Amino acid sequence: MPRCVAGSPPGGSAVSERFLRRPGARFAGLALLVTVAGAGCRTAGHAPAVAPAAPVPVATAGIPSPLHLAKLDSVLWFQTSEEARQLQRQAFLAARRALDQALADPAWSALGQGTSAAPLPVAVIADVDETLLDNSAFEGWMLRRDSDFSAEAWTAWVEAAEARPLAGAVEFARYLAERGVTLFYVTNRDAEHEAATRDNLARVGFPMRQDVDVLLLRHERPEWQSDKESRRAHVAASYRVALLLGDDLNDFLSGARGASVDERRRLAEAAADRFGTSWFLLPNPTYGSWEGALTAGEQKPGGPDEALARRLARLRAFEAP
Ligand SMILES: [Mg+2]
Repeated sequence: MPRCVAGSPPGGSAVSERFLRRPGARFAGLALLVTVAGAGCRTAGHAPAVAPAAPVPVATAGIPSPLHLAKLDSVLWFQTSEEARQLQRQAFLAARRALDQALADPAWSALGQGTSAAPLPVAVIADVDETLLDNSAFEGWMLRRDSDFSAEAWTAWVEAAEARPLAGAVEFARYLAERGVTLFYVTNRDAEHEAATRDNLARVGFPMRQDVDVLLLRHERPEWQSDKESRRAHVAASYRVALLLGDDLNDFLSGARGASVDERRRLAEAAADRFGTSWFLLPNPTYGSWEGALTAGEQKPGGPDEALARRLARLRAFEAP
């Protein structure tokens, strides 16, 4: 499928390549690329489907370093693409249908609890970040600042409580509430962010039971670490867990964090019949334990260039004969 690439619109490529070869022209060159790309994209022999948009003014001082820039497309995809939005809605719609089945079948459990859980009230466990709440504006902030993730910046973002809901997420949570199903929010946000997280969820319309602690954060209890298994077990002790929702393997399986790409494949394949039936994954190409898997077991890279080189080395790529 033809793909629109910045720097390759008709008439744009030769100019921008010449420009980029000039010493010290990186920032200005990138600004030119963005402006030209904004003027429209076409494939050979086809007129653009819509009128070209006006060029977007670009602050050249804000061009991030290459390692950070590598995240730009995934964040833009998450924020702007209708594909991302409809995938979110699709996941919640499928989860609704699965919930209807689970309510009609007392033996149904997303955690394989068996018939002993049949008399228990029904619950759903959902992760928060990039499952219910959209933190891509935080990623955007890091990109604009050309900055790595930091606990300080994350705290500022979380305490602002400005994350928006994912498409279909609030409606799904309300669907559960209307059916008497308890939604547990199981998040690796730290316990110190409980009030702000509660505030953010409520602000955008997520229902939350007040008589039970349904917001289970990391470190809220000593045994509640990044691996969410102990929190799933905590919920399963009192509820029949009908569904799990998350954007990371760690939201479903123990041992996903720190595992290699191959180990993650084995973990997921062993539970493959659950995905799409009682486990529902939301798309998140911007970050996650999948990233750690790329360098699992390796020493920390010496710097950003080495980190980027290692990523490039992981690519599976066609080699022309
Ligand atoms: Mg998440």
